[in-house]
Amino acid sequence: MRAGVYKGNSLIQTEEIPTPNPGPNQIVVRVKYSAICGSDVHGWQYDAVAPGHVLGHEFYGEIHSIGSNVSKWKIGDRVTGGGEPPPELDRNLVRGPRFNFRTQGMTRVEIKAYAEYMLMEEWAALEVPNAVSDEEASLAEPISIAVHAVRKSNLKLGDTVLIIGAGPIGLFCIQTAKAAGASNVIVSELNDSRRTAAKAVGADHLINPDSENLDDRLMELTEGKGADIVFECAAAKPTIDQALDSATRNGQVVLVAIPWTPVSIMPVNWQAREIELITVFGAKPIDWRIGLELIRIGKINVSPLINEASFIQLDNLQEAFKTLSDPSTTDQIQMIVKL
Ligand SMILES: [Zn+2]
Repeated sequence: MRAGVYKGNSLIQTEEIPTPNPGPNQIVVRVKYSAICGSDVHGWQYDAVAPGHVLGHEFYGEIHSIGSNVSKWKIGDRVTGGGEPPPELDRNLVRGPRFNFRTQGMTRVEIKAYAEYMLMEEWAALEVPNAVSDEEASLAEPISIAVHAVRKSNLKLGDTVLIIGAGPIGLFCIQTAKAAGASNVIVSELNDSRRTAAKAVGADHLINPDSENLDDRLMELTEGKGADIVFECAAAKPTIDQALDSATRNGQVVLVAIPWTPVSIMPVNWQAREIELITVFGAKPIDWRIGLELIRIGKINVSPLINEASFIQLDNLQEAFKTLSDPSTTDQIQMIVKL
């Protein structure tokens, strides 16, 4: 089968590698769409991926073959990730109590979804409802991240929410925060096409921090109060400090994006407001199910994130990673490999 293999030194090459066969409790999925995640781009950019690794964890596919003990699935079933919680053994293998995503996250050689076929444990797959399209299902993972972030936050009906960064995760946080009852969702984003998408998915107010002062605009829009909840979805140098400074007294900052370089913060500006900072990472199976349900009932719309040019071939993966490593150079919000 063809796969986009990481070769080291920020290089992905399309290669022919063996097509997997399922063990007794495994399934093989024919991958149809595999979306490019910012965390994959970071791993590539900072050369934190083991050579030989095939990245890609945002996918949609159909079951191609099943192992002899598999009773839950049949060939042709429509699936994505996020199935059941992993058994204890698998959990410990992957993430211990001092798990460090930068040094341990992508250092095991795994063959994931930038490939024509993907081997999965049967518990790891999740059925895609009929009303959810193949393309929508390929974004179930980033949607589950936003669902997880909102469910872990203190968000209450009627809250004011600030979302910093309107890449795919920020755009899904807008929609999940709205679905959870936020009444005033303010979005700060530099990139024009991302701000347009933020409006299209339901942001109430947009701030361009390039031409406007974020703090001044936020005070204007919140009558000097600040945001009840801030979702930090940018991971740019100043944005964590901005997020903390934007929170109201006893407000909460949810660190969703993952900065890979040191960031500076100025605690004296906001510490006296007794702000809570929480981190989120990944999602639980329940978050994936809720995400798919939100698509099904029309509370999440993926179309403002994609257009015809979003779909690329496996051979263009290296080029797409290069483009996405500096989002200011592109109008594309979400790129998806069509396999
Ligand atoms: Zn992802």
